[in-house]
Amino acid sequence: MLKRTKIVATLGPASDDTETLRGMINAGMDVARLNFSHGTAEDHQRRAEALRTAAELCGRAIGIMGDLQGPKIRIRRFANHSIALSDGDKFFLDSALGLMDGNQEGVGVALDTIHEDVSSGDVLLLNDGLITLKVDSVDGTRIHTTVVNGGILSDHKGINLKGGGLSAAALTDIDKENIKLAAKMDLDFLAVSFVRNGEDVEAARRLLTEAGGHALIVAKVERAEAVENINSIIAAADVVMVARGDLGVEMGYAELTGIQKKLIRKTRKAHKIVITATQMMESMIQNPIPTRAEVSDVSNAVMDGTDALMLSGETAVGAYPVGAVREMSEIVIGAEKYPLPISRHRMDDHFALVDEAIAMATMYTANHMSVKAIIALTESGSTTRWMSRIRSDIPIYAFTPHVETSRRVAMYRGVYPVSFSSDIDNPRALYQDIFDTLLANKLVKVGDLAILTKGEVDRISGSTNSMTVLQIEPSS
Ligand code: PGA
Ligand code: MN
Repeated sequence: MLKRTKIVATLGPASDDTETLRGMINAGMDVARLNFSHGTAEDHQRRAEALRTAAELCGRAIGIMGDLQGPKIRIRRFANHSIALSDGDKFFLDSALGLMDGNQEGVGVALDTIHEDVSSGDVLLLNDGLITLKVDSVDGTRIHTTVVNGGILSDHKGINLKGGGLSAAALTDIDKENIKLAAKMDLDFLAVSFVRNGEDVEAARRLLTEAGGHALIVAKVERAEAVENINSIIAAADVVMVARGDLGVEMGYAELTGIQKKLIRKTRKAHKIVITATQMMESMIQNPIPTRAEVSDVSNAVMDGTDALMLSGETAVGAYPVGAVREMSEIVIGAEKYPLPISRHRMDDHFALVDEAIAMATMYTANHMSVKAIIALTESGSTTRWMSRIRSDIPIYAFTPHVETSRRVAMYRGVYPVSFSSDIDNPRALYQDIFDTLLANKLVKVGDLAILTKGEVDRISGSTNSMTVLQIEPSS
């Protein structure tokens, strides 16, 4: 049985050898993520090449997503690399302090304007929220605080302001270099970190286009401003990521589950793709099986309607990279058995586009008949994206001659790429070609009903304008 919800797995030292990569692909990885926060350009290029080789060996189209580091705000360094903070200690942050001059009294910050963005009473969260500081006063560039939750604080740890508002531009100089790298590597997805609004997303897209890249843009929703500006972000992006790590720190994790549901619903409604990310199988960094809470978290994201689930440290640095993907796939298949209410997606809407109208009609028909497969002959994959916004148990096969399209639709829920090209003008011969391909891959049986969508005068119009119900016939 095919799982509908897709898996994005981060590559790293734990998944560098070809055997592991093949294991991850066979276990259900659909898209590989390269995290530009760690490693060199050479590391990323080497990993992408290894992934493409492994995908070819497995006969699968796997997308690659580059994930920009973004303006993660970090403290500078300590003379002794780390200090221990106790509750009630006084501690300062100062962007004017020397790079290595941190000590028990205070530490530098790599954001020159941070003192303008905070005032007394604000709460600063360090090291993913493990350490909490309350701002007492701001004096020039120096921010005086009292430690609320202490702990060990070491070099370069991240800082978030509770409620958001640290005004760093979304694209750093390093990000701009990495956008060029993403274009050069011909990546399928480019994730932009810490976007504040739709303009940040558009700025990344402009730079990528200038560099000759064609990746879909993934907007990572991970700061409070992004939640406020979610409509403009969804409009500007191709894909939205619910980046629960940083988002949970800024918004407070108690609200995270509700925000996740809202982001998934809004993104799907706007016909865009959505990824749910971070700590989904975190305990599998060390353990061979997930906790019941993680099982439940993955299942609930599936039931929320996410297109894809993301693994980070689990596959990049964990002890069970293949096991994490396999366990996640099994949970997905289990969760997808749970019946969900009939989709009312676009029921009351007017359709402006022909291909969209055909896609909606196809799903309505498929969901009301015993149809075993939906086949879309598609150039860009957009018909299958429309289709996959409607809830269904029926697989949607994107038949495309373009490998770029195959790698994109790998992220879409319920859509499976099939490499296919047929120059045949004779519809009977074309149908037989399609039947043969489906039968050879054991995707249907003779006598099954299938729905085919395509452009009637294929290479002239280039867009889908027809839907045909077909009964699968045996290979000739
Ligand atoms: P990161 O983004 O893993 O790059 O920090 C995801 C998140 O913050 O959840
Ligand atoms: Mn993040």
